[in-house]
Amino acid sequence: RFATLEPQPKDPIFALVDLYQKDENPNKINISVGAYRDENGKPYVLPVVKKAKQILLNDPNANHEYNPMTGVDSFCHNAAKVILGKDSPAIAEERVATIQTVAGTGALKIACEFLKQTKNTPIYISNPTWANHKAIIENTDLEWKEYSYWNQENRNLNIEGLLEDLNNAPDNSTILLHACAHNPTGTDPTREQWKRICEVIKKKNHFTFFDCAYQGFASGDLDNDAWAIRYFIEQGLELIVCQSFSKNMGLYSERAGYIHIVIKPSENASVIAKNVRSHLGGITRAILSNAPNFAVRVVDIILSDPELYKEWNENMKVMSGRIQKMRKMARDKFVELKTPGTWDHIQQQIGMFSYTGLTVKQVECLIEKFSIYMTKNGRMSVAGLNEKNVEYFVKSVDWVVRN
Ligand code: PLP
Repeated sequence: RFATLEPQPKDPIFALVDLYQKDENPNKINISVGAYRDENGKPYVLPVVKKAKQILLNDPNANHEYNPMTGVDSFCHNAAKVILGKDSPAIAEERVATIQTVAGTGALKIACEFLKQTKNTPIYISNPTWANHKAIIENTDLEWKEYSYWNQENRNLNIEGLLEDLNNAPDNSTILLHACAHNPTGTDPTREQWKRICEVIKKKNHFTFFDCAYQGFASGDLDNDAWAIRYFIEQGLELIVCQSFSKNMGLYSERAGYIHIVIKPSENASVIAKNVRSHLGGITRAILSNAPNFAVRVVDIILSDPELYKEWNENMKVMSGRIQKMRKMARDKFVELKTPGTWDHIQQQIGMFSYTGLTVKQVECLIEKFSIYMTKNGRMSVAGLNEKNVEYFVKSVDWVVRN
């Protein structure tokens, strides 16, 4: 019955991790996967997460009962405050429909299913974007189209191209935006540029679909990184936000996330939000019954306790600060070696990734000759660099660029 199936192509990032693990070169570097590494190149369990897990273990009332399909109400409420702001009028006016999801990817999937049921128009994604956006949209039998994002020549945002494409999209299109720390380019719009994007979206009656996987990673400040989302809401727009705690709490495999659908202000906005939430719950029921609970309980312990919340912010600053330091060290070493080309963008870009501008051939050479594993589009996860390997990395890139 299944004899005709061909093997699926391996996911490019997980395939690189496989190769990296088999490589015996003691100098090997993995800068492919978007997961934070400490200064010794090791996975990092946030100290605040360790504390919260201990509190959960000691809680005599903790159990493993099923949750409602929409998740635990108080958890949903606390997660909404992190991303929409604790004084968000949308939350106060009860016009936010929030449900628990299987991290950011699960949120995107449920959101796409919801959009298919309610809108069924193409979803516009940035060119380039995180590869899984296309896969999730296709898997939901929706269509994607691209809007311009990256200016390869200047290594910055192609804002005019972006605005033109949003202007040319049919009215009432869905626009998927990275809320901060754009993956893979590490390049976000400025506040002025966000305002211009919002203006076009409003004018064209487009629907905004925010993916927020890196809140706290871009600047080390949760409020700052949620600025665009909050601004769009302030402007009276209705939108979806997919929120992940994978990166900012280092809970990658535990799958903590939420969807928030913000309804625009009106007399019956809170009723609409309730109905939207029940639909999201219904979709969840048919796909996975209910979202996993361990990680969101850990998240909620941290969100509910002012001391732990403060400590979480400090832990995030440790991560984003080390990444910024590595950006500067790499950029300074390129300058010192007089590596052909400009390297300021490595320091200017933000979040987990840098879009280096290296070509596919150069990346292949880095992998084969130097055991430096990164994705073929020239994206590197800066978190994979540390004080011990940054020089080897820069010297290898220098060799590749010159040869
Ligand atoms: N969105 C973007 C842009 C990402 O880079 C990622 C992860 O790499 C995700 C969403 C989903 O993350 P997760 O499903 O692990 O929460």
